[in-house]
Amino acid sequence: MLNIVLFGPPGAGKGTQSAKIIESHSLIHIATGDLFRKHIGENTELGKLAKSFMDAGNLVPDEVVIGMVEDKIQENLDANGFIFDGFPRTVNQAEALDKMLERHGLAISGMVALEVPEDELKVRIKERAKTSGRIDDQDDEKINNRIQVYNRETSPVADYYRNQGKFTAINGVGSIESIYEEINSAITSLEV
Ligand code: AMP
Repeated sequence: MLNIVLFGPPGAGKGTQSAKIIESHSLIHIATGDLFRKHIGENTELGKLAKSFMDAGNLVPDEVVIGMVEDKIQENLDANGFIFDGFPRTVNQAEALDKMLERHGLAISGMVALEVPEDELKVRIKERAKTSGRIDDQDDEKINNRIQVYNRETSPVADYYRNQGKFTAINGVGSIESIYEEINSAITSLEV
């Protein structure tokens, strides 16, 4: 199985690039933000729990996210592999992911990290806000909080994979197609 963590701050282009990667590599897309938004749309207990954290731009508690991801992995054990998008967002989640994959004889093949300067992230999120309908895209305070949460709690996850020799950084500024080409060659080198 090819199991990729697509990493990067909010607005880095993870969702856009994931859509292209899952198509070309036939992977299952596990995007925790999308899964939470689906739960919110369906008004499930999980959705109600996640909503207040998400609307403020804070992280949903680890145990909630980890349980949801574990269910998705269980449901798709016959897949070619997974692309994790927006997960893991804490070192604790990364450790839990390694353990759950290990239980199925699986492992993360590599992390691909999209690097985008902070000013550009803010411009992109504000542009996305026009059509996303996402409360957390709407104002400067929420956007700034999400970037701070990323810097404080999520960026150490890169070191977690770097220490395992599984880290590749990609310049996330440029055309969607040229960034995709770079991601694709990083992923292809993990397949062999
Ligand atoms: P995203 O769509 O990836 O930008 O995620 C939107 C929001 O969902 C985040 O700001 C968090 O509130 C929540 N969320 C998504 N993934 C996670 C995660 N792995 N851990 C904690 N919270 C998450």
